[in-house]
Amino acid sequence: MGKPTGFKEFTRELPGKKTVEERLQDYKEFIKSFPEEKLINQAARCMDCGIPFCHSGCPLGNLIPDWNDMVYRENWAEAARRLHATNNFPEFTGRICPAPCEEACVLGINEPPVTIENIEYSIIEYAFDHGMILPQPPKQRTGRKVAVIGSGPAGLAAAQQLNRAGHNVTVYERSDKIGGLLRYGIPDFKLEKWIVDRRINQMTKEGVVFETGVHVGVNFSVERLEVFDAIVLAGGSTIPRDLSIPGREMNGIHFAMDFLTQQNRKNSGLDLGETQIKAKNKRVIVIGGGDTGSDCVGTANRQGAKSVLNFELFSKPSPDRPANQPWPYFPVRLKNTSSHEEGCQREWSIMTKEFIGNHGKLEKLKTVSVAFDPKKGMVEVPGSEKEWPVDLVLLALGFLGPAKEGMIAQLEIELDERGNVKSNAQYRTSKEKIFTTGDMRRGQSLVVWAISEGREVAYHVDQFLMGSSLLPRKGDVDLPRI
Ligand SMILES: Cc1cc2nc3c(=O)[nH]c(=O)nc-3n(C[C@H](O)[C@H](O)[C@H](O)COP(=O)(O)OP(=O)(O)OC[C@H]3O[C@@H](n4cnc5c(N)ncnc54)[C@H](O)[C@@H]3O)c2cc1C
Ligand code: SF4
Repeated sequence: MGKPTGFKEFTRELPGKKTVEERLQDYKEFIKSFPEEKLINQAARCMDCGIPFCHSGCPLGNLIPDWNDMVYRENWAEAARRLHATNNFPEFTGRICPAPCEEACVLGINEPPVTIENIEYSIIEYAFDHGMILPQPPKQRTGRKVAVIGSGPAGLAAAQQLNRAGHNVTVYERSDKIGGLLRYGIPDFKLEKWIVDRRINQMTKEGVVFETGVHVGVNFSVERLEVFDAIVLAGGSTIPRDLSIPGREMNGIHFAMDFLTQQNRKNSGLDLGETQIKAKNKRVIVIGGGDTGSDCVGTANRQGAKSVLNFELFSKPSPDRPANQPWPYFPVRLKNTSSHEEGCQREWSIMTKEFIGNHGKLEKLKTVSVAFDPKKGMVEVPGSEKEWPVDLVLLALGFLGPAKEGMIAQLEIELDERGNVKSNAQYRTSKEKIFTTGDMRRGQSLVVWAISEGREVAYHVDQFLMGSSLLPRKGDVDLPRI
């Protein structure tokens, strides 16, 4: 513990953001830099708790008090080493994690919690800026070959761990670029894509082979995977939930992911011309109040939408921690994202009934308010029907699991009751030598869980191939070179 009185002396402080007007000008990240002196004070707030609940709040088991202490002592190399002991990609989680660790922080019981996520972000950026993040090729190769299908955070974490264990790893990605949702889902204003490239560059130098444009089960037969000693399926949860209400077939109604992916492609320099779904000068309604919905709001505003409405079926949560979700649990509470701040009207307890239009052109969306009845569940409120003028609707209603046709059908892999790829506690599927991880296994989740799952599957694959494994698991303290 750096400073025993730190938590009494300093209040929680985060870096500033560009103004809404400034950040709507482009798709870049908008968090301002934070002076080192202030960051050190923030690290000094950590109490180095006897039982650091922040560890258990984090799906990776990050060694948070250890790196807080190192930042306080200005020992950045050691801070970065401890950061990488549990997390392959702190530059992603340091930007976009909802930070369950902060909800579990002991200081958070009666004070604002330690700014764990921002300290993580600052350590990794310092480490990259100062040349501390170098490729770590394995000293010896095992001669075993592993295929990883899908290059999102789960596939990347699995690939990096397995490669460092000495296996020859090939990552197959159907898209034209590596990164999964980090690349073509999450907007640049939350995660600029050079940050993904920077890590891929390290992994390439370590010896991981990346092949893009390879859609396993479509333009690459599953039989071609037979040459591998183990296969990891990390294809994500990609099927969007649809809204089967009258008028769905009209023009102007799109899945959120089509809208977001197109904008990310455009930001990477691709001109989509007239095929791009555009929000400019349109009245936009985003249906779905989660991360994807919020990202649509931010993107629509940057495109110059005339107005943005965001509908959510569930009732408005309280901004405070609900009594039935006490510390250190991750509570459901009102989340106001930076995209919401940028301009949008949010409507809660609202159900969509019908799209109304003329000659196939969308004009209005009919809704009804809903309430929760303890006996009947969700019920419509009589007389609350309303019509909202609209030009563009974006459906951000979550995901139904991985695509079943193609790879999964051809491999004849068993699915669980939720439609995800079924696995046992060792992440093994119903087929010999085939493992699964990430959203494809657990359903739509978070980047931090994907990295955690990627590390875990790597351990099990290594054990399967070698009979034992030295790869770290959650709870192990392994301090790697960086
Ligand atoms: C719009 C949006 C915003 C989000 N924002 C956040 C956030 O702010 N914070 C957060 O923590 N989480 C966020 N998430 C969730 C997070 O992105 C996912 O949980 C995470 O990316 C899952 O990682 P994954 O590696 O399992 O799968 P993915 O990232 O989905 O990657 C799977 C990859 O597999 C490829 N693939 C699939 N099938 C095949 C095949 N047959 N052959 C070859 N390749 C294949 C896909 O093309 C894809 O690239 C967001 C999700 C979305 C959709
Ligand atoms: S729970 Fe909070 S105060 Fe305690 S060790 Fe973790 S970060 Fe520090």
